[in-house]
Amino acid sequence: MNCAYCTSQACQTRCREGLPEDCPMEDAGRVEADCSCYHQEENQDFYADSIESMKQSFGKMPRIIEAVNFCRLRGYQKIGVAYCSGALKKGIAVAQIFEKHGFEVVSVGCKLGGFSPEELIDDLPEPPVQGETGRPKRAICNPIGQARFLNEQKTDFNVVVGLCVGHDSLFFRYSHAPVTVVVLKDRLFPHQSDPSEQAAMEWSQPLCEIEL
Ligand code: SF4
Repeated sequence: MNCAYCTSQACQTRCREGLPEDCPMEDAGRVEADCSCYHQEENQDFYADSIESMKQSFGKMPRIIEAVNFCRLRGYQKIGVAYCSGALKKGIAVAQIFEKHGFEVVSVGCKLGGFSPEELIDDLPEPPVQGETGRPKRAICNPIGQARFLNEQKTDFNVVVGLCVGHDSLFFRYSHAPVTVVVLKDRLFPHQSDPSEQAAMEWSQPLCEIEL
């Protein structure tokens, strides 16, 4: 099954006719189970607030302010900022924005622990670059530590600032508080969030030509 290639897109208009044979909506039991998940207490208000936040911010707020607004709607007080140390300036900016809006902020950089690569990875594909002291020059990122530290600090909500692909996944896995990304790291395109078709084309065309 591949929704992205579906020519019907019937779900978008709530239509139950003309569904492709392998449409996930053909499994009514599973779709009903989705529905009951939203009615669980832990999800109901959260989802309603996210819809309200979207209404309030649509076309008016950049993502970071939308996140601030969402936290305000949720009544959160303590915000965790998990930033990439290579994006320290953005980490500072995000922390200041939340503080300016009255939140208590705990920020934590990805080099927490100052681990060398071999301390965290058993079979390193390449030996780390050595510095003058004979020790690896750069600390390796510690996204699990970032999440665990913010868990300890009992943050209500965490925001991610420029964590690398995979590092962010580990952070999401270990964070107890809900998480959103406010700054996306993209080493080829500075930041892609324009949802227009034109932007999607401009973004995807050169990417489709890259061979891995
Ligand atoms: S859910 Fe069904 S109708 Fe919607 S895109 Fe996927 S296959 Fe198509």
